[in-house]
Amino acid sequence: MPSEIVMQLNEKPGRTPRTLHDILTWPLIGPFLRWRYSRRVMQAVLLVITGFIVFDGLIGPQQAPKNLATVSTWVEYRGVVVLALLVAGNLFCMACPFMLPREVGRWLGAKLGWQGSVPKALRNKWLAAGLLIGFFILYEYYDLWASPWLTAWIIVAYFLTALVVDTFFQGAAFCKYVCPLGQFNFFGSLHSPTEIAIRRAETCQSCQTKDCIAGNQRTGQRGCELWLFQEKKSSNMDCTFCLDCVYACPHDNIGLKAQVPMQTLWSDPRRAGLGRFSERWDLTALMMVIVTAAYLNAFGMITPVYALQQSISDMLNTTSELPSLLIIFGVGFLVIPVVVLAITGQASRLLAGRREDSLGFVIRRFGYTLVPLGFGVWLSHYAFHFLTGALTVIPVVQSFLNDVGLYAGTPQWQLGPIVPSSWLFPLQTIFLYLGIFGSLITGFQVAIHQYRNRHVALRAFMPWAVLAVLLLLAFWIMLQPMEMRGTLFMGL
Ligand code: SF4
Ligand code: SF4
Repeated sequence: MPSEIVMQLNEKPGRTPRTLHDILTWPLIGPFLRWRYSRRVMQAVLLVITGFIVFDGLIGPQQAPKNLATVSTWVEYRGVVVLALLVAGNLFCMACPFMLPREVGRWLGAKLGWQGSVPKALRNKWLAAGLLIGFFILYEYYDLWASPWLTAWIIVAYFLTALVVDTFFQGAAFCKYVCPLGQFNFFGSLHSPTEIAIRRAETCQSCQTKDCIAGNQRTGQRGCELWLFQEKKSSNMDCTFCLDCVYACPHDNIGLKAQVPMQTLWSDPRRAGLGRFSERWDLTALMMVIVTAAYLNAFGMITPVYALQQSISDMLNTTSELPSLLIIFGVGFLVIPVVVLAITGQASRLLAGRREDSLGFVIRRFGYTLVPLGFGVWLSHYAFHFLTGALTVIPVVQSFLNDVGLYAGTPQWQLGPIVPSSWLFPLQTIFLYLGIFGSLITGFQVAIHQYRNRHVALRAFMPWAVLAVLLLLAFWIMLQPMEMRGTLFMGL
């Protein structure tokens, strides 16, 4: 029996005892999640809801605050996802409705013999990082948050892409290498308090069949499609919380266990399905794209950016917004991060006196210092929209039902916030400070785990700490004019 807090409530032979730190052993929720079809039920519910969202987006009222597509996507979904990542885990991937077309594609591709392996050149995060950059540019260019019609088409395109990718490629190719939402969730779940993990190492050591990865022959349950072999799995990266491994393991040896958030970033083991983080430029790039996007999203709404865009357009002698946007995002996503990471990495390397470590290695190892701060900025931003507009969904649903002939009463358009407005600023501040606190802890722990010497570690850590604090200050400065308007993130 492990040394953690164990509550042995109604333990039965052959059944894993209930423990506080393993959600799969909890009453009600545990049996539900362990039921093999629980995920399908959640996906089917979300699929039906998504159908209504697309329907309203395409033919409903085209005012963003009155349409199910825009309200549910840009207010509800984003807020619920980041808050769930903070307090629970990757719940969206667990219940993802895009999995159902994926399954259809998987079945179709296997039946017609169309499926092959993902080409080696694409087995990384470069494509996903590029798609995320493309999405953020389109988001600004087309003001996606303000268009129900475009929002609905994005959802349709998402379903079609999932279907096509998994028709032609084996495994969870769409989730692992393509899906931008999934990559954001993997990034966020590095801060989650739970992880799918084994219960007893000795059970895995004596296990002959390794069904969690190979699949269970007896039940026909597939193993992990994302190549996360439980014995060597470490971190939530690439884990969709699909629970396939849980259903496949014949020894009931996998749980949804409590963990210290961010702890998996500190050390650098060779991880199943991922390798070492410090050997992967693609993973570093993906993390930096998401961190940078948190800033560019905020930058896109402040007054000076319009003047900057105008002067770039004047210089290029064009009235189109696209060239200036491409230049600003190009500099923001590529030039600034590369320069900043190179300077900080070089300072860290020199201060630590470890010239044998290459600059690239130091950036790939310490770059994760900025991940918690990036998540704090996203959390602050998305939670703002959710806290100020979560109840908007009630009148929007009423209006939708009325439109389709099901009388649901007079829409209560006055509904919106779920907390008093005086709580918003303190809550956002808490999220940002959680982010910087997480970054400082992560940076120092990375240095300690890497150098095993407090003095060396402290010197290596200092430049990253300075960078994280400067980034926090930069964010506060960007917010000042908006804060004076009393609308901290309006229009993001
Ligand atoms: S998790 Fe289960 S199936 Fe996988 S190695 Fe361990 S005991 Fe075997
Ligand atoms: S380890 Fe693999 S099979 Fe298990 S929940 Fe994560 S993605 Fe699913």
